[in-house]
Amino acid sequence: MINYIENHTDSQKSFRTIFSFIVKKGKTTRREIQKGTNYSWSSVSGVVSVLLNNNLVIETDPVISGVGRGTSYIVPNGDRFVSIGLDINSTGFTSSVVGVDGSIKYKNMRPYLGDTKEYVLDLMFKLIDDCLAFAKDKYNVASIGVSCQGTVINHSIYKRFVFAKDFMYCNIKEIIEKKYGIFTYLEHDTNCLLEDYLFNHNEGYVSVCVARIVSGLGFAISSNGQSLEMFGPIDFGHMIVQPRDGDKCLCGMNGCLEAYVSSVGIARRAGVEDFSIIEKNRDKYRNILDEAGFYLGVALANLSHIFSLDGVVMTGHVIGNDETMLKQIIKYNNEFSGEERAEIKYLPNLSPSFGAARLSFIEKVDKEGAF
Ligand SMILES: [Zn+2]
Repeated sequence: MINYIENHTDSQKSFRTIFSFIVKKGKTTRREIQKGTNYSWSSVSGVVSVLLNNNLVIETDPVISGVGRGTSYIVPNGDRFVSIGLDINSTGFTSSVVGVDGSIKYKNMRPYLGDTKEYVLDLMFKLIDDCLAFAKDKYNVASIGVSCQGTVINHSIYKRFVFAKDFMYCNIKEIIEKKYGIFTYLEHDTNCLLEDYLFNHNEGYVSVCVARIVSGLGFAISSNGQSLEMFGPIDFGHMIVQPRDGDKCLCGMNGCLEAYVSSVGIARRAGVEDFSIIEKNRDKYRNILDEAGFYLGVALANLSHIFSLDGVVMTGHVIGNDETMLKQIIKYNNEFSGEERAEIKYLPNLSPSFGAARLSFIEKVDKEGAF
């Protein structure tokens, strides 16, 4: 009996590992799966056959150098299973419906105009309902991923959304799963952006950092295509850059990097109510923006040294299309990096909802197998 259970578990495990590998890769070969998972050729062939028979994956174009049977590329079947991704952000909530092959089926956005937990949940439900209405009769919705700015606990509880006064320790996973019966997974927004970067924009850096500069400041780092898993988020935004008489940060401390470079911090330092005022006339506030560029450039130089980065990708509306600010950041980064400097670039359109959808599906396969 014990043997039977163990055998059964092993076969489930190989199934999950192999399917998960295919989903992560997006497009792969049996040979690559064998190398990447260490399962035998016959196990890989067997599991891939089952996946093909169940329409979970499909075979596409033949591998050019391949010889013999089983030399077509394997991709997850994006016409059957999709995941919903949501991004909770102070400017607006966005959603995506993403096929398990990484194809984007649908996108939506609703502005965030409230300041209560009830409003946040209601807006999330509206976006999920929009996505479900789109997917109805066409796709099976396998999972929901939620990208959150700030701290996420156990991929379930969103600790604090500072733009809703009573939003504290909210178990979003439980709330969504209870309402919709769909597997739900929460992730830090920067890890979701990193997933989008690695899947859709990968430029071959060995160690790359994605920095999101919006109303908050977030970082995620990947090494060799694997995201760096920490106990919590990489909270470099709350590194103290002014230990004495520093500006107040939203986290409650004084002198955090975020207090000098986030849209909220910059607006406060400029003495205006909202960053949108600065966005309309950046030249008028150039001194404050330069100062933010200085803090960011120095911080990225420090980060590059700590993690041996060769690439840094910035995103978010604080930089937006402000080339002067981007140049300042690069200038200061170079000044403090020395010769070992990471390449710094700005990508405006990284999508946290895309990354959240992908990560939720990978997690579902890892946790629950293939349904
Ligand atoms: Zn802080």
